[in-house]
Amino acid sequence: MQTLRASKCGLSTAQLPSYILDVIDALTKAGYEAYIVGGGVRDLILGLNPKDFDAVTNATPAQVKEVFGRRCRIIGRRFELAHVYAGRELVEVATFRAPPKKAVTSASGMILRDNNWGTIEQDFVRRDFSINAMYYQPRKGIVLDFCHAIDDIKNKTLRLLGDPTLRFEEDPVRMLRTLRFAAKLNFSIAPEILEIFTPELTQLLRDISPHRLYDESQKLFTMGHLNRVLPMLIDFGIWHQLFADISPDISTFIERAAINTDQRIQMGKTINPAFFYAVLLWKPFLERCEFYLSKGVVPAEARAQAGLDVLKRQAIRTIIPRFAETFIREVWEMQTRLLNPKPQQIQSLSTHARFRAGFDFLLLREKSGDDTTQGMGVWWDAYQQMSTDEKERAISQYNRQRAKSRRKATTDDVVETKPVAAITEIEPLVNEPEPRSRRERKSRTKSERPVQSTSSNGSEIGYDHPILKRKRVKRDLSQVIFGPTQ
Ligand code: ATP
Ligand code: MG
Repeated sequence: MQTLRASKCGLSTAQLPSYILDVIDALTKAGYEAYIVGGGVRDLILGLNPKDFDAVTNATPAQVKEVFGRRCRIIGRRFELAHVYAGRELVEVATFRAPPKKAVTSASGMILRDNNWGTIEQDFVRRDFSINAMYYQPRKGIVLDFCHAIDDIKNKTLRLLGDPTLRFEEDPVRMLRTLRFAAKLNFSIAPEILEIFTPELTQLLRDISPHRLYDESQKLFTMGHLNRVLPMLIDFGIWHQLFADISPDISTFIERAAINTDQRIQMGKTINPAFFYAVLLWKPFLERCEFYLSKGVVPAEARAQAGLDVLKRQAIRTIIPRFAETFIREVWEMQTRLLNPKPQQIQSLSTHARFRAGFDFLLLREKSGDDTTQGMGVWWDAYQQMSTDEKERAISQYNRQRAKSRRKATTDDVVETKPVAAITEIEPLVNEPEPRSRRERKSRTKSERPVQSTSSNGSEIGYDHPILKRKRVKRDLSQVIFGPTQ
């Protein structure tokens, strides 16, 4: 073990927010050892902005609770931790851990319980990567480095502590962490990890709860280097473990969304991690819609059912929380609304809670070459920049065009005998196909029959009468009520 001077590592208390110093000071004052450890130390040394600060101490969670009282909550069963609330921030305070006892590991070697308290040396070997195992005591101005982690930082190398196979077996999530840190820090993965990191080994992730995998997927999405990690997920066979039904192929749409997410994070903008799930699952969703449509299900119902199916399938791997699921389905549903809005609804649509996300999604689709958006992404983009008068003009122009394309659709339908669905107004997201079920076809022919018979009887309502044509314009999509579909 070497003790490094914090200043030599580029660390100073001035970089630290007061809340983490308060936690360290309170524990020290109560007679315990306390250090900052993990990503906070690593990122500060690398000159990055740490996401959070984690503390570690020789006080047990119960003792930490005694020090902080109501500001502290003990959480976790497999991995018991103290959460200390310092102002508006939360600091995770872990207790030094000793190696787990044999009895608490699963048949595949996975650690099921890990609450065996120990010394700092024992705690160090329990950590994942060397660069995550530096202990910083800011008041003493020292960093304890047990494994020349500082050299790995200098050489930009991600090295697991101990035998890599064993460490992955103990906790397969470390495979995800390997890719996350390699992408985030732009570090190379040590050869001894690369050697054993096979797609077969990623099968171990099947033992991880879909809740934990969802949390990890969120960390991948929000670390600021999503675009870099996506191909790595495919290369290392992780993609398949996280997104079983999404083909391992980074489409332009997915890539653009990833770049966009990273840029937003870089600019300090908020992102909703569920948005990227909406992007990833878009293709499976459309395919599922097609499936229902081909069975003759009406479009609104097809979309609702497809959304449910796709999210249910994804939950086998990562359980997306209910609120995020609702968000995803609303973003998808917004696609239909934004693509084919009723003129009188345009204004209220633009102030809808899900408008922004739905619009971003639509624009991303359009910019990725998806021409089914029919230029409506750009239309909405321009609309938002307009003054009230301009908006009114844009809406009436849109209305005229809409009417024109409707008329054209009906005329063409008669003249060129094209199917109406191919040329009606702005195409809905999901095209309504010719009904395939016998019952649907029957009901359609029924509704057409009286008109045809009138016509054949030589009545005034002829074959090309406008009423006839209007009736054939598909309308049911405008009846779709926006909102979380059941
Ligand atoms: P981030 O920037 O994402 O917060 P981090 O390294 O701080 O990165 P955390 O998940 O906050 O990651 O964990 C804090 C520390 O706890 C890690 O640096 C590491 O030392 C240890 N740790 C976390 N998860 C594991 C794990 N699965 N196996 C071993 N050690 C872990
Ligand atoms: Mg952390």
